Amino acid sequence: MSGPKPKYDPGELEPARQAAWEARGAFATPAPAAEQRAVYIKPSSPFTSGNLHMGHVRDYAIGDAYARFRRARGDAVLFGFGFDAFGLPAEMAAIERGTRPAEWVERCGERMLAQMKRLGFSFDYERAFYSSDESQYRWSQWLFLTLHEAGMVYRDDATVDWCDTCQTTLAALQVEDGRCWRCHEKVRLIRRPTWFLRLSPYLEENDRNLAGLETRWDELSLKTQRYILGRSDGVELDLAGPDGGGLVVFTPHAGDVGEARFVLLSPRHPEVELWAQGPQVAERLDELRSGGWERSARDAAAVPVVDTGASVEVAGGGSLPVLVSPIVDARYGPTAALGIPSVDEADEAIAARAERLAAEPLGGGDAAGLAPRKARRYRAYDFSISRQRYWGTPIPVLHCEGCGVVPAPIEELPVVLPRDVEPSGEGNPLAERPDFLEASCPKCGGAARRETDTLDCHFDALWLWVPAAVPPADRDEQMFSHPDLRRWLPSERLVAGNDSGGFVFDQRVVTKALRDIGPFEFLAEGEPFAGCLFHEMVIADGRKMSKHLGNVVDPDALVAEHGADTVRLAVLYAAGPAKALNWTDGALRFASRFLRGLWDYTHESLAAAAEAPEDAEAAADTAFIRERLGKWCENGLERIAADLEELQMHKAVRNVTRLLERIKDYEKRVVKRQGRLGREDYEALLEALALLARTLSPFAPHIAEQLLVALGRDASVGFPAAEEDDSGLSMARNNLSEHQVSAIHRDS
Ligand SMILES: [Zn+2]
Ligand SMILES: [Zn+2]
Repeated sequence: MSGPKPKYDPGELEPARQAAWEARGAFATPAPAAEQRAVYIKPSSPFTSGNLHMGHVRDYAIGDAYARFRRARGDAVLFGFGFDAFGLPAEMAAIERGTRPAEWVERCGERMLAQMKRLGFSFDYERAFYSSDESQYRWSQWLFLTLHEAGMVYRDDATVDWCDTCQTTLAALQVEDGRCWRCHEKVRLIRRPTWFLRLSPYLEENDRNLAGLETRWDELSLKTQRYILGRSDGVELDLAGPDGGGLVVFTPHAGDVGEARFVLLSPRHPEVELWAQGPQVAERLDELRSGGWERSARDAAAVPVVDTGASVEVAGGGSLPVLVSPIVDARYGPTAALGIPSVDEADEAIAARAERLAAEPLGGGDAAGLAPRKARRYRAYDFSISRQRYWGTPIPVLHCEGCGVVPAPIEELPVVLPRDVEPSGEGNPLAERPDFLEASCPKCGGAARRETDTLDCHFDALWLWVPAAVPPADRDEQMFSHPDLRRWLPSERLVAGNDSGGFVFDQRVVTKALRDIGPFEFLAEGEPFAGCLFHEMVIADGRKMSKHLGNVVDPDALVAEHGADTVRLAVLYAAGPAKALNWTDGALRFASRFLRGLWDYTHESLAAAAEAPEDAEAAADTAFIRERLGKWCENGLERIAADLEELQMHKAVRNVTRLLERIKDYEKRVVKRQGRLGREDYEALLEALALLARTLSPFAPHIAEQLLVALGRDASVGFPAAEEDDSGLSMARNNLSEHQVSAIHRDS
């Protein structure tokens, strides 16, 4: 008789499997090999916040299942990431705790790495990095200078919040009800020089390429790209200004051009100064610019409108008043648009507030003489990349009395950020450090002052997908020139939250710039990601998880209570990626029941198999049922593989659970026919269970391996390889030697 059935104890079993993975270097990125397909799976780059949240667990559980699947299918897999470690949240957290951001970030990263390992994610941890490491931000500085030289980075004035008490600029997240987060005094808006990343040269290509990405980008990710582009198709026409100058105006309402009553100009329109003449108008325009208009730019009933007093002439008589309003930017980008109140709600709201309107519609309502031509506008626009903060990549430029703004020489990078700073939130710590501030001008050799603004972490993120593809030892010399880049890029799949759309859009722009500049010339399409899966967030009780609502689910507590496999399976099973995952105990209970049930059933079957008699006649009688089981296994495997191929993990998990139902159904049918299972029937059943464990391995890898060990299989063989697909049960049989079969019988 068999002894007591082994107990399912994930707290013991999972760390043991993880140690085995580490010992055999199971997730090390393989060296380049010509015969293998190279698949770089890019998970989202976590902020060093100190704690994984359920959104991370969802992200990495999907990516990990896919990585394990691709490895098993024979591909060379790179599954690596780096921490997004610079930025305001880390600086604020350090201020709150009275520590240095550098130390805070390191502590957070170590903790998060431990959490990831405990969840069993198969990252190549050797390739992990922090964007705040000198060896990393040196390349952020290189990228800044490279883009600056190519004209993709420029300096201009921007409006920022300023606290007089703290003597510092504030980010949106530091302003609550118009007051400073730190001292609670009122903040005001000031204009100051800011660095921008230029997007316009690549908007059209980003748009055009979307059609080609449709096969491997999911609908959610394409939707965010379209939204960020904000493309409008319509017509444009030439109108004449007062001094013989012209103005090209756009409208999406191609059929209603003749109904236009005014022209609306963006405050960013390159020729806006020509129209805003006269001291009063210029003053009002200035007011509008320093009024933080971006915040209300979408609401036509509240957005500022400035009448320039000027008009454009229309061929064939009549004229239209020229107004300036940032609502143009929010709709079509920095352009000029026709105001057509009769067909456009926003224009109607503007018209109601305008001081002047054309008495007559354009061309008396007849657009025939205006010769409109097809045109397109994009709302996406350049964004600011510099911040007046300590904890960020120092911007590698100098200010010289004589020469102005001078880029630091590339060979002198990095411009080192002092790490021994304990910011208070007051002033700019870099401006108070002579050892950082004082330098000599690379051009004239005179005294110069370093730029004290740092790069927003959004800039670091522009290339955060690159370093994992370069072996750590080669990153110093070859970050953007290593031969492996050609092998791994573009990344086969990005798996990220749907709030990453903006990052991805800008990464796509910068990849195209680097293709044209040279380093990425091998990426003909200029696309960093061949495939993309965006998932919605994890919520609780139908609401966003937040400390404030007290509904935050802590992954550590779940893992401690239920084990990593159960948590992973629950997260994957609960919802498809395109849906918000409303976390409930239901999914957890389901996953726990399934895994425990499978564990018990497998061990019971093993024990019973040892007692099963040989009976050739009975075996011949049930042969057709075994054959049917083989077919079910084959179909199940095919479906699960197809789901994994599409990263539809919720479907894949469902199909794994169905396979277990099929196996139990098989058992019932044999019992119904013969009263019990004979030795051959059990062999087929155990083979089916081994296949089931292998199909489970991408989702719940620890228990899957342990079950394979119990079944006498090689635990390191995960999901079936592609060539095993159509052989059904026979492949499971081949994997099980005669020796192992008899061992199972003897052991029990
Ligand atoms: Zn303040
Ligand atoms: Zn100089």
